[in-house]
Amino acid sequence: MIILILLNLSFKSSIMKNFLILFLCLISINSYSYYQSETVDKIIEEATDNSQLELLAHELFDLIGPRLVGTPQMKNAHDWAKEKYETWGMTARLHKWGVWRGWERGITHIDMLEPRIRTLAGRQLAWSPSTSKRGITADVVKVPEINDKSEFETWLKTIKGKFVLVSQNQITGRPDYQWEEYATPESFEKLKEDRDKMSDKWFSNLRKTGYGYRDINQAFEDAGAVGLISSYWSKAFGANKVFSARTEKIPNVDLNLEDYTMLYRMVENGTTPKVKIISTSKELGDMPTFNTIAQIKGVEKPEEYVILSAHFDSWDGGQGTTDNGTGSIVMMEAMRILKKIYPNPKRTIMVGHWGSEEQGLNGSRAFVEDFPKIIENTQAVFNQDNGTGRVVNINGQGFLNSYDYISDWLSEVPQNVKKHIETEFPGNPGGGGTDHASFVAAGVPAFNLSALDWSYFNYTWHTNLDTHDKIVFEDLKNNVILTAILAYKASEDPDTASREQRVMPEKVRNRRTGKMMQSRGWPSVRKPNRDGTSSK
Ligand SMILES: [Zn+2]
Repeated sequence: MIILILLNLSFKSSIMKNFLILFLCLISINSYSYYQSETVDKIIEEATDNSQLELLAHELFDLIGPRLVGTPQMKNAHDWAKEKYETWGMTARLHKWGVWRGWERGITHIDMLEPRIRTLAGRQLAWSPSTSKRGITADVVKVPEINDKSEFETWLKTIKGKFVLVSQNQITGRPDYQWEEYATPESFEKLKEDRDKMSDKWFSNLRKTGYGYRDINQAFEDAGAVGLISSYWSKAFGANKVFSARTEKIPNVDLNLEDYTMLYRMVENGTTPKVKIISTSKELGDMPTFNTIAQIKGVEKPEEYVILSAHFDSWDGGQGTTDNGTGSIVMMEAMRILKKIYPNPKRTIMVGHWGSEEQGLNGSRAFVEDFPKIIENTQAVFNQDNGTGRVVNINGQGFLNSYDYISDWLSEVPQNVKKHIETEFPGNPGGGGTDHASFVAAGVPAFNLSALDWSYFNYTWHTNLDTHDKIVFEDLKNNVILTAILAYKASEDPDTASREQRVMPEKVRNRRTGKMMQSRGWPSVRKPNRDGTSSK
């Protein structure tokens, strides 16, 4: 409206002419910023109206499944992502960086045959030795209360041909939040005391065996046990953490709390349950390991990079959905949209889907080591890892001037996305935990898009419940919009993002213990483990 009124004025005086010139300048500035907003508008529109997230999620989680390093499923996922990028018109390739112990999960079937029949909820642990197709049927025992190592050694002589319960019992399968909600304060207090006592007793008995928490499993194997039954409850309904087996030659299965505690109570009360375990995994020898890399080539500064980052591998108790399938498909969807809406970026926009993050950021560390030229010329890295929630935190990772450029890159992110995000500048450099740390250590401005947790740590992180149904698609769309706009803005930035590092404080608070401790300074670059052929 204002434009029309002014243009209709006749300009007789020079004041009026000057005014018009000024005005035309304003229009041109305005139209320049309008052009940018148009790209952002189109990004938002594509992310909202033509989202491919549901299709990607179905294909990756339901069809390919979890992505444990060294499994064929991990390789399938790398190939699948490469193919997706190619169908979206991007160049993509697999970066081979190492070799791992190849293993493939088979059928796991665990049944209690005595004192009554019940099919038990559990699974083989990763890299566990298998059983034959017919399985193993055996009695179940647990370590009795002992007074010293010699009593333990005597008991060990009795476990030949038996399954051993190796985990601590649990006193309740209800998460604490339920006790807080429903129990009387007195009964909740009592529960906590009983639980602590039970745990103390367990560890004191373990100490008396003369073995540690890990090497005791070797003693069971050496004594002729035919399998270990463990249970790593995640303190949430139905959720167990599922990692790798602790055995060399005999199968190791993990049971859900409900069934594990039942077996435990039976043994404790003098009944010997008989269990049959079938677990038919396959050893596949040495398998190469990869990262999937794709890119949209920059037009003005093709040798400079903006990198979208998310680890692609997972543990395999569930489908590896929130860790880190959701981060992975957010990056894929952001790339698809950028290629469509912003096909000629100023800088090259690259995406890295890293392998073997779970064993120590190996894929991203290998990338940093193998591509020093890219690392030298990276404007920014945006990484996502912790779950399905909308992004709520961005930390400047100790880069002194990160406030300036991150604020600028966030400036066009719509309010309904930005309003959830707390920022912290200059923040502290991430030393580990997820892949941005591999880049931060190399001095690259790399940021973690930290998400709302949706009970991540207890329910889905490394659990059997990390599955498709936990996805919150609206939050993922929110993250796609954020990531795509950040990448676009970082690519267009006329300036190179400053890498100047903050002076590290002498003392820092230990996040786990809460205690102040000597700062170790800026984290240093660490070597990837490129050989996991003996991993378990
Ligand atoms: Zn993760």
